[in-house]
Amino acid sequence: MRPWLPCALGLSACVAPSALPPAAPPPVLAPANDGIWSALATSTEGRPIRCATLGHGPRRVLWVGGIHGDEREGALATAQLPAAFTAEPVALERVTLLVIEDLNPDGTLKKTRGNGRGIDLNRNFPANNFRGSSRHGDEPLSEPESRALGELVASWRPALVLVAHSWREQEFVNFDGPAQAVGARFAELSGFELRASDALDATPGSFGSWAGVTLGIPVLTIEFRRGRTSESAWERTRAATLAVIVGD
Ligand SMILES: [Zn+2]
Repeated sequence: MRPWLPCALGLSACVAPSALPPAAPPPVLAPANDGIWSALATSTEGRPIRCATLGHGPRRVLWVGGIHGDEREGALATAQLPAAFTAEPVALERVTLLVIEDLNPDGTLKKTRGNGRGIDLNRNFPANNFRGSSRHGDEPLSEPESRALGELVASWRPALVLVAHSWREQEFVNFDGPAQAVGARFAELSGFELRASDALDATPGSFGSWAGVTLGIPVLTIEFRRGRTSESAWERTRAATLAVIVGD
């Protein structure tokens, strides 16, 4: 069996994120359109949001390579992750890993935090603390990018979600939901400081608030140091990332 599979999750069959269905089977196969990558959804400005599915194990893990377009420090880690993961036979047997390359390709192109309409996608999830505004969106999941991730998480029910961000002059891993132990493992292996989400400024409508707190899915937010080269960011976190994905 090939170690990787293109992903297609049938997201047109919209699943309301608030109504949790039984855990879905692994993603259905679809022809790849670019190596391991295929389009999960389309951004506000029509760019593909690409994803890849790797491995075939029962443990479902989701990696999101970026949400804020001006925080691309995790881009190389995202690019390196498929090869690093597939080089581990144990990982392929234990885990099905879904990698979203970049949830916000429009923001990445413009180097802006928000999406093509200026909405901060990490404030646009239906968490209990959602606060609608011109910057957060009038309603939760008002944006195609946040809808794609929301529908994926609600239907696929990953056991762990890792999301790459960056932070000024600091690097740490933040956890939401029942993720303290896995966050501690990541911190131990990477040297990143471990923080609980409630130690940060309020983040209404964040992905972690919703998936972690509202749905109870473990979420690790990896805050690379802003401006740190991608190569060093990946080297620093490679072992920690693979360990928590596999569940060691
Ligand atoms: Zn961020």
